[in-house]
Amino acid sequence: MANFFSTSTVGEKALIDPFPTAASTMLQVKDEKESPKSSKKGKSAKSKSPASKGAVANGKAKSTKSANGAVVPAVSEKKTANEHVNPSWGRFNSGTWLGVIGCGGIIAICPVLVILINIALFHFHGSLIQVFVSLYNLGPTAFTIKYAPHYSQTATLGYVAWVVGQIVLYMGLPAKICYGQQTPAGHLLPYHINGMSAWVVSHAAYAIGSYYGVIHPSLIARNWEGLIVAFNMYGFVLPLFAYIKAHLAPTHLDDRKFSGSIIYDYYMGIEFNPRIGKWFDFKLFHNGRPGIVMWTLINLSFAAYQYELHGYITKSMIVVNILHAYYVIDFFINEDWYLRTIDICHDHYGFYLAWGSMVWLPTTYTLQAQYLARNPYDLSNMGTAILLATGTFGYVVFRLVNNQKDLARKTQGDCIIWGKKAEVIKAKYNTADGKEHETILLCSGWWGVVRHANYLGDLILSYSECAAAGLAMYGGTQEWTFTLLPWTYAIFMTILLIQRCIRDEERCSGKYGKTWDEYCNKVRWRLIPGIF
Ligand code: NDP
Repeated sequence: MANFFSTSTVGEKALIDPFPTAASTMLQVKDEKESPKSSKKGKSAKSKSPASKGAVANGKAKSTKSANGAVVPAVSEKKTANEHVNPSWGRFNSGTWLGVIGCGGIIAICPVLVILINIALFHFHGSLIQVFVSLYNLGPTAFTIKYAPHYSQTATLGYVAWVVGQIVLYMGLPAKICYGQQTPAGHLLPYHINGMSAWVVSHAAYAIGSYYGVIHPSLIARNWEGLIVAFNMYGFVLPLFAYIKAHLAPTHLDDRKFSGSIIYDYYMGIEFNPRIGKWFDFKLFHNGRPGIVMWTLINLSFAAYQYELHGYITKSMIVVNILHAYYVIDFFINEDWYLRTIDICHDHYGFYLAWGSMVWLPTTYTLQAQYLARNPYDLSNMGTAILLATGTFGYVVFRLVNNQKDLARKTQGDCIIWGKKAEVIKAKYNTADGKEHETILLCSGWWGVVRHANYLGDLILSYSECAAAGLAMYGGTQEWTFTLLPWTYAIFMTILLIQRCIRDEERCSGKYGKTWDEYCNKVRWRLIPGIF
């Protein structure tokens, strides 16, 4: 969910692992640009390799049905390859200096941005302009000493307890087993799906703790500065751990990507699905638990904080809490759907996913509640009703579109969409083991209107959430302040999702070739008919 400014590009020049171990030397990139077409050519040669022997041996297994209803093809989970064949739809390596500078820049700038936003909220009524004026007047050292959030042992220990608690829930609560999608190397992984119970247990514990006075309802808000420091510490250490693990103890040798640049590999990730043991999946756990479960708790905690500071909770704060809760609860109810999204199916595990989900998500997705806690602007009754309606509409579109794709994929197109038999295009693709697979591209229902209607629903919801804070200031009795800060989430989502449309389509084009062009000819627009 928290896919953060991926700089992955398709078809760039392959480079060599800069940090070769015995295993990675074996996997030294031979022909990173081998496409499905060339993999067909290589089929006979590869059939003699141990990798393909393994695949053949495993090919005896029968297809089964997973808990999420998807047909699980018989694919070896333990298969290892002694050659690195990179199908054109996997993430390609970008060792270009521009790519490296871009990654380095994001690594350096984004944490500073998060801290500046926090300073703006705490000390300057949400005005970033005033932050920069103060920075200019005081100079960086005095400014940092005066305003930068400080390390707090209490907040850090609390955060460690939170992450450990989430690991215990992830591993310990009853789970259904669902499958992701074929990785570029041909692995099909099972996942522990129990996020809804983890969310309920976490919120129940927070509510009970608050009720009996063990913790304060505004605990998170009160410790926010210390938590931002703790989030960042983990957000930097986690991808470092993933980077080292990718070299020393990779989970799947043949699903790693090396670019030749330490910075690029740290940022974009090397391993596709790093795991510890069979079940502890780094990507699903970190993208989908500590940050997302905390998301609604952060909002609630800032609502409690607003009450403490001002003696009331505004309607705008309630709208923000309700609309975000839609999104978070929906995520957990449909958690197995997340296994078929780009985060899980395409992105390797590095800084942009790890830091994005551990720092960017909890700090910026909750900005509206943070802002309203200190600046209790309120909406009129009409404004409240309108934003609840538009937000609900956006959410419903988002969910219906995602459900249509999921249904079509599960039934391979044998389903009814908008009262008619689904229209689909059959599409073939190859994995690195040289196997050919078939799937469908849905081109009716929402998926016949535009190619990313789910993003559109998401954007309508995001703007409604931000408007609850960003527009409230115009209708209230408070002193008028202009700030873009409450809109950060919607602006970020707009950039992210437009970039995703482009990035995802490059990947799909590489994966499906002419069939993807056929789909694009049939469904012409990406997001808004006639415009984009
Ligand atoms: P999608 O769920 O739309 O998945 C895209 C993939 O679906 C493609 O790569 C392709 O994968 C497959 N696909 C594309 N077109 C079709 C078609 N016509 N029929 C069937 N399958 C198709 O995108 P995301 O993973 O980016 O997003 C999932 C949701 O998460 C979206 O609703 C988005 O708004 C939301 N999101 C939220 C974020 C947040 O931080 N709040 C961040 C990013 C996304 P393949 O064919 O390889 O299976």
